[in-house]
Amino acid sequence: MSVAIVVLAGDGIGPEVVSAARAVIDALGLQVDYDEHAFGGAAIDRHGTALTDDTLEACRSADAVLLGAVGGPKWDRARDRDARAPRPEQGLLGLRQGLGLYANLRPVRPLPALYSASPLREERIAGTDLLVVRELTGGIYFGEKQRSAQRASDVCTYSVTEVERIARVAFEAAGRRRGQVTSVDKANVLETSRLWREVVSRVHGDDYRDLSLDHLLVDNAAMQLLSHPAGFDVLLTENLFGDILSDEAAMLTGSIGLLPSASLGEPDEPGLFEPVHGSAPDIAGTGAANPLATILSAALMLRHGLGLESEAAAIESAVDRALENGLRTPDLGGDVGTHGATSAVLEHL
Ligand code: NAD
Repeated sequence: MSVAIVVLAGDGIGPEVVSAARAVIDALGLQVDYDEHAFGGAAIDRHGTALTDDTLEACRSADAVLLGAVGGPKWDRARDRDARAPRPEQGLLGLRQGLGLYANLRPVRPLPALYSASPLREERIAGTDLLVVRELTGGIYFGEKQRSAQRASDVCTYSVTEVERIARVAFEAAGRRRGQVTSVDKANVLETSRLWREVVSRVHGDDYRDLSLDHLLVDNAAMQLLSHPAGFDVLLTENLFGDILSDEAAMLTGSIGLLPSASLGEPDEPGLFEPVHGSAPDIAGTGAANPLATILSAALMLRHGLGLESEAAAIESAVDRALENGLRTPDLGGDVGTHGATSAVLEHL
């Protein structure tokens, strides 16, 4: 089987960590056609826009899209000088919209070898293995915005269809994991949350009765993520709550350099796979970037984007064993660089 992957390395450390992930994919012996495109700041420099029509079209017809990161001070300064200057992040929004990516998946699985790097005590995080499923294209971020001198408003809207499709993503993911979905809302106050709760419960009752479903208010979820993170399997949230809770959950692992993510749309459309971190301009070009988040994003791509579960698991287990055997990049308090970390993963693959 041959797979077509569009590679958007982006800016800063993006190209460094993406080439590490490619080396790991290549070691699996799959037949892969890579199609590279400038994206973000790099595309602004070359084409005057962060995402060209050609690039979007190439992404649409690929099996999956692997992304590094975008942004940097150069384009921030251009924006300071001229508010209409294009921004690298516009590429990310354009891609999410253009590919209809409505589900964001972020696994959080602190490794025993790294418990000491977490800001939480070891006994709190021990056994944590959770997945945040966040709705990505609805809610308050996309509602009507108004502003006058004395007042501002952001409208939060959800339709039944939007809630139903993200609920299905969460239940499907839970079916492949420990079968337990916790849906987060603020149903004691918000009408959108009451709709959310009703629809999630209906989807569960209709099609996923064999899985367990709990509802949790978002304030309580924020507390329990710190007090008892190991109690969660799949956390299902709307856009704003998911933005906040997934960053909170991310801190459980101790370094942003370890966190992968997947953004998915309709099952027959390509997904987008990228590390959670940004372009880290402070360390770009020094060879110190931790490539593990991007390597783990490649594993998510194999699992969720290409249906290659055993290859995905092989990469994850190679990363686990490399860390267990002492691999530590500078962000984890060690001195192994991007190349060394990639070689360590390849050795265990
Ligand atoms: P960042 O994630 O780039 O960096 C935050 C800190 O974490 C920095 O100290 C950085 O050195 C460190 N870090 C990040 N990734 C690392 C890795 N793989 N290995 C080791 N250390 C790592 O966030 P920022 O500094 O707020 O943003 C920098 C630029 O990235 C900005 O232009 C921002 O807009 C952009 N950004 C892009 C994305 C994306 O492409 N999805 C996400 C967040 C930020």
